[in-house]
Amino acid sequence: MITDADPGLGLPSPADRLLLVDLDNTLIDRAGAVDRWAREFASAPGRDAADARWLVAADRDGLEPRERLVAMIGERFRLAPGDRSGLLAELRGGLVRHLVPDAAVTRALRRARAAGWVPFVLTNGTVTQQERKLRQAGLDREVAGWVISEGAGLRKPDPAIFRLAATRAGLPLDRAWMIGDSADADIGGARAAGVPGIWLHRNRPWPLTAFQPGRVADSFPHAVDVLLLAAAAGETP
Ligand SMILES: [Mg+2]
Repeated sequence: MITDADPGLGLPSPADRLLLVDLDNTLIDRAGAVDRWAREFASAPGRDAADARWLVAADRDGLEPRERLVAMIGERFRLAPGDRSGLLAELRGGLVRHLVPDAAVTRALRRARAAGWVPFVLTNGTVTQQERKLRQAGLDREVAGWVISEGAGLRKPDPAIFRLAATRAGLPLDRAWMIGDSADADIGGARAAGVPGIWLHRNRPWPLTAFQPGRVADSFPHAVDVLLLAAAAGETP
């Protein structure tokens, strides 16, 4: 139950600052949805818990190309061609179906907005699937907009997609911050665009040696706390 007052999402004022936010495993618990879908898939006769674990591992946190993942699943479960044909849609639909709105994330977005930040989603993926996720999680009403790599023709970590998001949001990139869980795409991309990043560690060690994340948080609400503290301390990019 969300009880915080909704500050609204009107046109940005000159004082507003852009908060770029990743979607998968930042605003939404994609990993949890994959886990729940995998257990559902593995509950069919002849399948077991090891199959569910295999599915989660094969997904590689969303990094495995979907068509390739479908082929791998078809092979492992010896699916007939007819069953394989609908698997991509089942994979995508199953993930969305298992997403649950997170009131703590919504409250954190509203807390950021109340402090003058304009949340704007910057995500790699297909337009149809990412927009389904945004709506399923109730986030489409909580952010000012989104840029999705497929629609943009650009992908994180390309700094050009960060510039495009700022243009779409109508806010300057040089006062923006980024929150995301991908060291390379989110924090590396932001860094290349001159934007400070807050990395969601998700219990993983920082994987890059080229640079260290400026700030680290263990959840999106925690990242907003970190952001508001940094802003209050007058830290600028
Ligand atoms: Mg992510």
